[in-house]
Amino acid sequence: MELWQQQLKESLVSPRQAALRFGVDAAPLERVAEIYPFRVTPHYFRLLQGPLDPLWKQVIPDPAELAEDGLPVDPLNEDELSPAPGIVHRYPDRVLFLVSGACASYCRFCTRKRRVGRAQVSFSEVLAGIDYIAATPAVRDVLLSGGDPLIMSDMVLREILQRLRRIPHVEVIRIGTRIPVTLPERITEGLCRMLSSFHPLFINTHFNHPREVTPEAAEACARLAGAGIPLGNQTVLLRGVNDATPVLRDLFLRLLKIRARPYYLHQMDLTRGAGHFRTPLSCGLRIMAELRGTLSGLAIPTFVVDLPGGKGKIPLLPEYGALRGNQVVLRSPCGEEVVYPDIE
Ligand SMILES: *Cc1c(COP(=O)(O)O)cnc(C)c1O
Repeated sequence: MELWQQQLKESLVSPRQAALRFGVDAAPLERVAEIYPFRVTPHYFRLLQGPLDPLWKQVIPDPAELAEDGLPVDPLNEDELSPAPGIVHRYPDRVLFLVSGACASYCRFCTRKRRVGRAQVSFSEVLAGIDYIAATPAVRDVLLSGGDPLIMSDMVLREILQRLRRIPHVEVIRIGTRIPVTLPERITEGLCRMLSSFHPLFINTHFNHPREVTPEAAEACARLAGAGIPLGNQTVLLRGVNDATPVLRDLFLRLLKIRARPYYLHQMDLTRGAGHFRTPLSCGLRIMAELRGTLSGLAIPTFVVDLPGGKGKIPLLPEYGALRGNQVVLRSPCGEEVVYPDIE
């Protein structure tokens, strides 16, 4: 057994252990974990500081998850937009391919908490998804997600990637993973060597807080980047976790240093059981305005909202300009109004 598999086996699977360690009442947490799956890796558990900690909030169950929040279980309508097992086909040229039903640690704010950690994805379902992609020439870009694709063994992952690479119209393969954050031991030299035989292959990591950028996570990203894999990062804007400009500025700068370019800052989806993480749109817009001008453009992600019902992701930008009659007035990053001499 490899070190990472050992670490995964040693993960906390009951919130009781976390409650005991930090002296909080376990019963309410256990009730939540009966509904929504719980697991925290030893690495991530070592980072927790206590119940008000932004990292705690991401992985330890909260009774707020059971509140009657009136939110949908499948806010992006993924189940309906699925033409084959595990496939979400929302845009003409690319598909989301859910190849794994499990993660190393379960995020309390997961948009797929209706299914992740509950149902396994069988290999025959994966094969049916690959058949759909093979039969759909418009698909140029395949985004492996789940669950977390990197929780699968090298052997199974290689098998899936080989089958995808045999499809002539599949140009780009992407993997979305939180494993560099939660189980950095998984990013072995062997995995990186295997992945590097399937270029162009991109990885989007999922760091939400600067304290997640540990030396171990940085080394995991260095191994991936060293294998020639361009790294992006997707952050979810979470109330009480990272909804403050200094926190995100620190996170985005640290990400650049580990060569993971901030790609998207996601507005929280309207997911049942995760409503307590929602922030108003104005919060994300204010943060984006405060980052611009004080932070390298390389460190600034696009703030996106995934529209309810699976209508697609759109970027939201702070207001920078206005047409007044035929005069264009634009605002500088410092807030100064500048008349721009436009052309017909
Ligand atoms: C986010 C998403 C994608 C990828 O979107 P990009 O903007 O290309 O990163 C593809 N399919 C689905 C269903 C998605 O939710």
